[in-house]
Amino acid sequence: MGKEWTQPNSRALLSSVGLVKHKERCPENAKVKAFFEWWDVNGPFPIVILRGTTTDALQEAEFKKGRKKLPDGSWVVIDKGAVVTNALRACDSAHGHAAAADAHPVREFFDSGGVKLIYLGDEHDEEVREEALRRFKMYDDLAKKHGLESGENYPGICDRPHVCDPDWRKLPLAPGVT
Ligand SMILES: [Zn+2]
Repeated sequence: MGKEWTQPNSRALLSSVGLVKHKERCPENAKVKAFFEWWDVNGPFPIVILRGTTTDALQEAEFKKGRKKLPDGSWVVIDKGAVVTNALRACDSAHGHAAAADAHPVREFFDSGGVKLIYLGDEHDEEVREEALRRFKMYDDLAKKHGLESGENYPGICDRPHVCDPDWRKLPLAPGVT
């Protein structure tokens, strides 16, 4: 790694904001919450939670990404890279049971706590992409060590940001989910 990868923000600086940005997006689920609270203090690098609990309306909007509705009402994938979920209905997703969060590695926070750079895992620069994937792998492995399920090996969709309570199907539906 060249000097491009050094993180000017020291752990001490980061501790004022914690290592999890947008922690308020974390669902109330005990296992998921425990993982992100652990990461906030002990995580190997900063992360940002992009999505926590969903509703029927939000889930449909997510499902539409990368897909087109055909005249017969069925959906077809038109841009595989844009697809973020295979669940049309919130009740069929751990997010609809308040038991999942999607998070990304963050390269740095500003001292104010704002996000400076995010690794999404699909960057054009090969070196950046490799580092992003290395961090995603650590994130998914640590989530599994904390008893969570990771989306990295889901059939048909490599959902690296997604972690959830493996027992989510048995949990009650979140508000706004039918
Ligand atoms: Zn997810």
